[in-house]
Amino acid sequence: MTQSATAFSSDFEDVTTQHLVRVAGWGVLLIGCSIAMLLALDTPVQTGRVLFNLGAGLVGGLALVLARLRHWRLAAHLLVWGVWLFVTLVAVRNGGVHGPNLLNYPVLIVLAGWMLGGRATVLLTVLTGVLFALFFWADARGWMPQVPEGNTLAYAVYLCGILLLTAAATLLSRRNYLGRVDDAQRTASHLAASEAELRKLLRAVEQSPESVVITDLQGCIEYVNQAYLLRTGYARDEVLGRSSAAFSSNGLAPAQRQGLQETLARGEVWAGEQVNQRKDGTSLAEAVVVAPIRQPDGRISHFVELKQDITERKRAADEIHRLAHYDVLTSLPNRSMLVEHLTGLQVPPGHDGPARVHALLLLDLDRFTTFNDARGSEMGDRLLCAVALRLSQQLPPEGLLVRVAGDEFAIVLHGLGGDMAQAGRNALAFAAQMQAALGQPLRLQGDAAPTQWTASTGITLYPQSGEDAVHDALRRASTALHRAKALGGGQVAFFEREMGQAAELRFRVERELRHAIGAGELRLFLQSQVDVQGQVVGAEVLVRWQHPRDGLVSPAVFIPVAEGSDLIVLLGRWVLEQSCLLLARPAFAGQRVRLSVNLSARQFRQPDFVDELRQMLARSGADPTRLTLEVTEGLVIDDFDDVVAKMHELVALGVEFSLDDFGTGYSSLAYLKRLPIRELKIDRSFVRDASTNADDGALVEAILSVARHFGMRVVAEGVETQAQADYLVAHAPAIVCQGFLFSRPEPQADWLARCAPVDAALNENSH
Ligand code: C2E
Ligand code: MG
Ligand code: MG
Repeated sequence: MTQSATAFSSDFEDVTTQHLVRVAGWGVLLIGCSIAMLLALDTPVQTGRVLFNLGAGLVGGLALVLARLRHWRLAAHLLVWGVWLFVTLVAVRNGGVHGPNLLNYPVLIVLAGWMLGGRATVLLTVLTGVLFALFFWADARGWMPQVPEGNTLAYAVYLCGILLLTAAATLLSRRNYLGRVDDAQRTASHLAASEAELRKLLRAVEQSPESVVITDLQGCIEYVNQAYLLRTGYARDEVLGRSSAAFSSNGLAPAQRQGLQETLARGEVWAGEQVNQRKDGTSLAEAVVVAPIRQPDGRISHFVELKQDITERKRAADEIHRLAHYDVLTSLPNRSMLVEHLTGLQVPPGHDGPARVHALLLLDLDRFTTFNDARGSEMGDRLLCAVALRLSQQLPPEGLLVRVAGDEFAIVLHGLGGDMAQAGRNALAFAAQMQAALGQPLRLQGDAAPTQWTASTGITLYPQSGEDAVHDALRRASTALHRAKALGGGQVAFFEREMGQAAELRFRVERELRHAIGAGELRLFLQSQVDVQGQVVGAEVLVRWQHPRDGLVSPAVFIPVAEGSDLIVLLGRWVLEQSCLLLARPAFAGQRVRLSVNLSARQFRQPDFVDELRQMLARSGADPTRLTLEVTEGLVIDDFDDVVAKMHELVALGVEFSLDDFGTGYSSLAYLKRLPIRELKIDRSFVRDASTNADDGALVEAILSVARHFGMRVVAEGVETQAQADYLVAHAPAIVCQGFLFSRPEPQADWLARCAPVDAALNENSH
């Protein structure tokens, strides 16, 4: 359809009107042409009448063509006004008010009414009225022609046509009218149904057992239902118009809230759980769905929040979780929690770098079955609860204590140090602590006297690799537990036997050494240092441990253990104190003999070390200029400046420094220059092979030349053969030798007796 056609037919979408245009068009065409044809048969032919009727018929035909082209309005106008014009012409010829043509006018007015609307109809009626008035006026004056002799057939056709056209127009209009009435009734009943539906929906929303909140686009509450009010305790006017976030999403974490806003901004539905607050401040767990409400054009106009109270469901889920993961008797986590926890400690795939090492301990109470059988299961339960409490009191904050089954408990210790050996020792120390705790008297309700308990403990480290599975770790711990039980109760066993032994040894040494220092089990041994002439010029103090069970223990066994803890400080203090006392004795007063004492880095780093030594020297009266402190290169690695400062303070007292085991460490000449070192001790590994191995020989010569350059004294340790001594003297005539060739380390009394007989005698007399 063209644009002009659209403009013309804009109010002609009505099908009935289009039918009317068509029916009227055909009616006018047929009636006009038929009458024209019939009149043409008259003799004589009245040409004017024939032409006017034919003209009217053609108007009908033209209207049909326009209708075909969908120019409905134009067709209707043409029909009404065209026919009116031709009818008027015919009527004038047919005698005006006396002619038969007046019937046309009412029909035309009716058609105009249906097809052209009110204004055209009024105009047509007025024009027709004026025309009639003119007819009457002309007739009164006698100006109108006589009604001509008619063609009866044409007249009959005319009357029939008019009747049929009127009937058709009326029936069509009636059909249209009835259709509209029908439509109106349908719309009314539809509206009523919609309203009922709406009321039903409103009631459903209002009475829904779940909270419903409707907000505008800014989140201001426009509607809340009854359930919301009941559940939150607010009154309707307390929430309407206020931001929903103040009531509804106050339980959301900031990230969750952001997610909610972004989802809604995308026009999508957000669903999640919130812990909101009631008006009285109590919390309310809710499953919430927030959805946009769209208008028919797709625009979002509101949001609806649907909230389901899940407080009870959550409580039930928590309870189920508790029952599934906790032991009912002791309230400790149970085996499934242990498995979950251990799974969480596995090395994540793709993890590089050192994994944290944890320990899994399985504890089984000794004699529990006997106790349970003898005293009954109620007392057995009480014992288990008491043991659980005692163990939990020993647990480090990040440890996990689990009741696995019966009288078996598991403990997971986390992050036990960098390496497996260290972790093993820590686990063992903890196991001993647990044993000690269980060993404390335990009084059960209903028991007259307290009892003491022991447990067998199996330990494994976990995870041992990226593939170490939880059930493997449990199996290892269980194997270790069986081993511990087989030892007869109260024992600890490692799954990793070697580690167990090493850790066990270290652990035992540490514990016993701590006791040994206070119990006077340490001994000072001295080893002479001699010059080229074989004169004793000094002695190195070497500590020994007179163990009540194991006899004399070498420092090679216990010094490394002591260095792992504060024990080395206690031990070093004791050695230094004894050495000062020794130095204050007459043996050293008379001769120019020096005493060398080994100093551990940890002891040197004690903030009050300088003061401590100063006081020791003052108390004992020892001559500081006879004291050499042997340090190793490891000492100067960290905090070089602090070390240098401290050394200078001590040098100012008169104390000298010797660099022990020189050549085995970093041997940096740069720091040698800056440190106040008076003496280098060539490590015995070089001394041993210097005379036979060219490399070692070159090294010793290099050390000698460095010492010469810096003006340092050189002591060669570990001289065992004359060849070694000769080699050294040949290269450095001023060298001091220390080694089995001259003397072995000996108890201080023996050394005094040999090297300073006067002093030894004095000493004996004084006792
Ligand atoms: P060190 O300071 O290098 O001591 C020299 C070690 O070599 C001593 O071993 C000594 O007995 C040994 N030795 C001496 N001459 C010979 C020899 O001709 N052949 C052989 N094979 N060995 C010889 P010891 O007494 O077992 O001491 C070992 C280490 O323990 C010492 O090495 C020192 O680092 C440490 N140590 C000993 N006493 C103390 C102490 O009181 N405090 C500290 N912090 N460390 C000490
Ligand atoms: Mg030494
Ligand atoms: Mg040495």
